[in-house]
Amino acid sequence: MQLEVIAIGGYEEVGRNMTAVNVDGEIVIFDMGIRLDRVMIHEDTDISKMHSLNLIEMGVIPNDTVMKHVEGEVKAIVLTHGHLDHIGAITKLAHRYNAPIIGTPYTLELVKREILSEKKFDVRNPLVTLNPGETKDLTPNLSLEFIRATHSIPDSVFAALHTPYGAILYANDFKFDNFPVVGERPDYRALKRLGKNGVICMISESTRVDHEGKTPSEIIAANLLKNDLLGTDNEGKGVVVTTFSSHIARIKSITEIAVKMDRIPILLGRSMMKYCGIAEDIGIVEFPEGTRMYGDPSAIDSALRTIAKEGKENYLLIVTGHQGEEGAVLSRMATNKTPYQFEKHDQVVFSADPIPNPINAAQRYMLESRLKLLGVRVFKGAHVSGHAAKEDHRDMIRWINAEHIIPSHGDFNLTASYTKLAEEEGYRLGEDVHLLRNGQCLSFERII
Ligand SMILES: [Zn+2]
Repeated sequence: MQLEVIAIGGYEEVGRNMTAVNVDGEIVIFDMGIRLDRVMIHEDTDISKMHSLNLIEMGVIPNDTVMKHVEGEVKAIVLTHGHLDHIGAITKLAHRYNAPIIGTPYTLELVKREILSEKKFDVRNPLVTLNPGETKDLTPNLSLEFIRATHSIPDSVFAALHTPYGAILYANDFKFDNFPVVGERPDYRALKRLGKNGVICMISESTRVDHEGKTPSEIIAANLLKNDLLGTDNEGKGVVVTTFSSHIARIKSITEIAVKMDRIPILLGRSMMKYCGIAEDIGIVEFPEGTRMYGDPSAIDSALRTIAKEGKENYLLIVTGHQGEEGAVLSRMATNKTPYQFEKHDQVVFSADPIPNPINAAQRYMLESRLKLLGVRVFKGAHVSGHAAKEDHRDMIRWINAEHIIPSHGDFNLTASYTKLAEEEGYRLGEDVHLLRNGQCLSFERII
């Protein structure tokens, strides 16, 4: 028996996730993501034109050269959801493997867009759709099951690889949301069944494990938004909300509140148009009638011109730029680079937490300061995370009852916090909960 887990990326950072599992020479890769804060420090670089080896050196994509030392053949590349830290390196690495890319419909549509915008490599791996709740044979010995999860992007799954020795569960990323605004609640029954049948190893995210308690449902974010938007005297004023473009559930809530306010929801921004357009096209979401979206900067400016002319009190704008990113719609609006003029008592709602790194903090500070100088009323806090908190993880650990656990999706602080939690549940570091660094491999033949 040969069974090994190779930690390729995402074990020393939040970003560039990639893990390989080798079962008797048949390899399955989970995720191929980028690290966004490393992209940001190299501004003016067009990643689409860059070679993978340069990007590996810059720490932007996973260093998959470790795969050269792994004996076996890659049979599938499996994607759990469409966030860029999980799919963003597909265009740079997937062509090196003669294997299909398997994902849910929304994830694969996003992958197609990534491939279309790639200028350096020609990615021709077949794209194979697998829906949540379905199982697919990869080889006579291996099958892949997608179990419905909830996260901050639609169509997210847990991936269970069934092997002759038991299952390997890849749980990156998830929260347990019993009142999701888009899609259904997680498939708890499938998770518990998996645990009963025997899981050799669970690879779990650890991004929010050091937060006590349970991550609130998306319905709470919808209520916080209602509180900010319906509970404030914004009559006759401009109202702008900014959030993650891929957070379709959040955007749906905002558009529905706009209708309650008798305002037309307008989605503005290139990525807003991409993520929301695809979600609507494939039937994941239905925005209220009359919702409009614009992605191209000139189309955005012309829409803003019309809005300014017709009276901004008739509209609710949902825009990109919640981190203060230069060039995003909100920053352009705040610096008077669009035909929309902010005025005293206009309302801007940030429905996203700042991503904790100094670049983001500085950009977001500048944006908020600019808005306040213009007399804009700034609202923050209408947000809930898409990642499981400590007590969610505890439930997961108990249900899955894995023989071994590998925490991932975070630096040492986070994976160590997860390890502490696993120890509370009876695991022991180095025996059955394992801390891996990028490039390290854990072989189970010695342990089991
Ligand atoms: Zn994610």
